[in-house]
Amino acid sequence: MPTPDCDLLIIGAGCAGLSLAREIARQCGGQNTRRVILLEPRENYSNDRTWCFWQRHTEIDRALVSKSWNAWQFDTKGNTVVQQSSTDWAYHCVPAGTFYKQAQEDIEQTPSMSLLLGQTALSVNPKDTHIEIETRGGCITASQVVDTRAPSAQLASEAPLKQVFYGLELRLTEPQKNTQTARLMSNMSTDAAGFKFEYLLPLAPDRALIEITRFSPASLPSASLKDEVFEAAQTYFPNKIAEVVRHEQGVIPMGLS
Ligand SMILES: Cc1cc2nc3c(=O)[nH]c(=O)nc-3n(C[C@H](O)[C@H](O)[C@H](O)COP(=O)(O)OP(=O)(O)OC[C@H]3O[C@@H](n4cnc5c(N)ncnc54)[C@H](O)[C@@H]3O)c2cc1C
Repeated sequence: MPTPDCDLLIIGAGCAGLSLAREIARQCGGQNTRRVILLEPRENYSNDRTWCFWQRHTEIDRALVSKSWNAWQFDTKGNTVVQQSSTDWAYHCVPAGTFYKQAQEDIEQTPSMSLLLGQTALSVNPKDTHIEIETRGGCITASQVVDTRAPSAQLASEAPLKQVFYGLELRLTEPQKNTQTARLMSNMSTDAAGFKFEYLLPLAPDRALIEITRFSPASLPSASLKDEVFEAAQTYFPNKIAEVVRHEQGVIPMGLS
């Protein structure tokens, strides 16, 4: 058996695949000798999502984080407000576009790594000594494969609960008064379709991300929330929306084992 084309083939260069590649590149300080290939169907990346997460200030990757909030709040339609804050922990935001760019640079600086854009894994066939991955460009052989593809639509639809959301990034005509507090679950309420809330992140004085999120057992298309999010945006920022800079949406299956 000839030597496989690579030691590790990563299927999917989204958040998980690129994070794994960056970590391997970093641990080897650019001297990585493991041959790594990433397959990604996209021809190029766009700023298609905003990742937010909790982390200690001391642990964040400052090159990626665009904004951090030390205070956050929750409220219901009846206006019960819970406000919390922390000096050690914060809610941080990473624009996907920043992450994709940084990850691509890290991969480019690692000679043994290749990111193949516009390439889809069509099938994965384990053999005795290696694994064969079929692509339209031909067969690639690997010693190991990490598959980061999302669960199939069929499996996702079987999840007992779905998190469905639709968001707008807005440019505002005047600065917001409070950019230090993230409204994580605002106007929480329930209706026949399940539980819903608004999510409002002041990204900068003149920028905000507003989303409607629903947790529902039903498979709602995220676009069904589009009108609601425009309505909510008008309520938060009446006559102050200069431009909708970006839309983002998703359906996250929850409770899959
Ligand atoms: C708009 C949006 C906002 C989100 N915000 C948050 C957040 O704030 N916090 C949080 O914790 N989570 C968030 N999530 C959920 C989750 O963190 C993200 O979806 C995250 O991008 C998932 O990373 P991943 O690598 O698993 O999947 P992806 O980033 O989707 O990567 C999978 C990759 O596989 C590729 N692929 C698919 N088929 C093939 C194939 N046949 N061959 C090769 N490659 C293939 C895809 O093109 C894709 O690039 C968000 C999701 C969305 C959609």
